[in-house]
Amino acid sequence: VDASTHPQTVVVDELVENVKTVFLGSPVVHNRRVIGVVTVRRDADRFTDDEESFLGVLTNRLSPIVAHATASVDFTFEGAVTDSDRDLRFEGIPGSPGIGIGETVLIHPPVDINLVPERIAENPNSELARFDDAIAHVRSDMERYNKAFDLAEEERLIFDAYVHVLDDEAMGGEVRQEIQHNRQWAQGAVKRVFRQHIDKLSAADNQYLAARSEDLKHIGQQIIARLQDFDSYSQDSYPNETILISDEVTASMIAEVPRERLKGIVSIRGSANSHTAILARALDVPAVMCADLPIYNSHRKFVDGNNGEVVIGPSNELLMDYDRLISEEEDFAEELEELKDQPAVTLDDLRVNLWANIGLVSEITQSLDRGAEGIGLFRTEIPFANSVGFPTEARQYEIYRRHMVAFDPKPVTMRMLDIGGDKQLPYFAIEEDNPFLGWRGIRITLDRPDIFLVQVRAMIKASEGLRSTLRVMLPMVTNLEEVTFAKDLIDRAYKEVQEEGFAVSKPLVGVMIEVPALIYQVRLLARSVDFLAVGSNDLTQYLLAVSRNNPRVASLYQEFHPAVLRVLRELAKTANTENIGIGICGELAGTVEGALLCIGMGYHVLSMNTINLPRVKWAIRQVSTLFCRRLLARVLRMDDVSEITAFLESSLTEAGLERGLTHRESIMSTRYA
Ligand code: PEP
Ligand code: MG
Repeated sequence: VDASTHPQTVVVDELVENVKTVFLGSPVVHNRRVIGVVTVRRDADRFTDDEESFLGVLTNRLSPIVAHATASVDFTFEGAVTDSDRDLRFEGIPGSPGIGIGETVLIHPPVDINLVPERIAENPNSELARFDDAIAHVRSDMERYNKAFDLAEEERLIFDAYVHVLDDEAMGGEVRQEIQHNRQWAQGAVKRVFRQHIDKLSAADNQYLAARSEDLKHIGQQIIARLQDFDSYSQDSYPNETILISDEVTASMIAEVPRERLKGIVSIRGSANSHTAILARALDVPAVMCADLPIYNSHRKFVDGNNGEVVIGPSNELLMDYDRLISEEEDFAEELEELKDQPAVTLDDLRVNLWANIGLVSEITQSLDRGAEGIGLFRTEIPFANSVGFPTEARQYEIYRRHMVAFDPKPVTMRMLDIGGDKQLPYFAIEEDNPFLGWRGIRITLDRPDIFLVQVRAMIKASEGLRSTLRVMLPMVTNLEEVTFAKDLIDRAYKEVQEEGFAVSKPLVGVMIEVPALIYQVRLLARSVDFLAVGSNDLTQYLLAVSRNNPRVASLYQEFHPAVLRVLRELAKTANTENIGIGICGELAGTVEGALLCIGMGYHVLSMNTINLPRVKWAIRQVSTLFCRRLLARVLRMDDVSEITAFLESSLTEAGLERGLTHRESIMSTRYA
């Protein structure tokens, strides 16, 4: 067929194009949408198979770039976006919850470590002196930040680790070697040493280590900035509502902004595990990491969403929605505060146990202040991750004791170290092709009984003399044999601790239901452990075969998927017939919708992120168990997630619980659906 005479050929005058005889077109598809077509034409031969497949590969590669450029094209022109006309949304990773509206302040890093030139030092001694001076400054900056942030001990440890990098036994010593032996000037020596370590860490293909490599890069750049006398971070006049944005936001950038003016953080690179995100959470500042948006220096308004979303040039309409939302949330928070000491009890007097999921020491007070009646999940891997090596029994004892004492006489559920998958320790790298199906949770600690025994001994000792019940919980269990082995180890540790003279009681032992195989083993488990806890985050990921961390399939990770809800109901039903206590500690339990369904299913304990606890209690106090059961019965008859979520939203709104629902999500989804 000759393309120039084909009836469907359309000549667009505005495009200077010649219709040739041979035409090849390949669609550019992104997120199920055709966003363009790449065409090539020529007069001579037909295109070959190789040429055709090459064009396919090319458009595949092009599609995310074109999608990104389409969204960002307005920003290349000053003034192209007005406050009134559009809401441009960019997705990132939620780094710290909350909503922030403000003026963007773009901070450029003072230097790029990769661009530092190498130079032979004429006088190595004076280079050494310069280096010493620079690290002394960086150290004192770090101390200043520590004070400015007023962090809890756990978070301070993170910054101490930063400072130790500068020690002579660590990278500080290596930089000196470079200067002395290889006669590099100070900047070049810092670059060489830091680059080596950064490359090693980032090559590990491991999120946690990659986050540490970002941290190293920040500190290397800070030293180089000092060496160059380049005090770029000082900006005196931050707007009253500042959204800090940078290619890589660092702790020092955050420290420069007066805390009351800092409304949000957007880091173009970085991850939810990086120090920046941890710091943002500790400071309670909303943050979006890894935001796929164009950096530009302008003072236009940004909205920083809880869902890892950033809106540039938000329309007045959207801003008004958010303003209203923020002030409603503030009023609501005051109302919730009054419920702090009230029990979570339904209208027909069912007492529901609302416990907290915690990990950082600072969350102890936070969760007690929000009315947590126990710890339902202590993620012990968090203090392990913030340590420079496996914490000793004495160190673990200190941490666990603080929790037990603070919560006494409330129950405390400590989970045995749950690493592997996406949770890695910097000093215990595990490299696997398929980490979520690999060496994870109990599989690791049963293979390394030394780690298990030290941990459980520290837990048992920490319970001495208190009225709190210690509940030891086993993550990622797949079969009964693991439970038997773990229980033997716990018995052994208990006997040892008793023999050492501690007056302790035997801890309760429970199993987390996260691996779908356990759905069919509840009866057996019920006879061998003291309690069950459903880890709905992992159970959902394994049941649906959808990673909980992969943005590409995020829309398939559906907590209200009919299969998930049916399984949760079955689990509670069987546990109740076996008379064993069953709780749920995944994110689902921390939503009003999920919590009410779980009550309808018969869960005894709902354990959640403490931020959500007050609103869940507020909702429980306004419904009856019959309402929850009816809600569940209706939902279980539905086959489709969107039908289920719409139904839940409308039923809860009708019941006067609208304020408890996650409004901001509905604003975002209705605007951008
Ligand atoms: C879960 O999997 O639901 C759970 C509570 O554990 P984590 O989120 O720590 O994996
Ligand atoms: Mg889990």
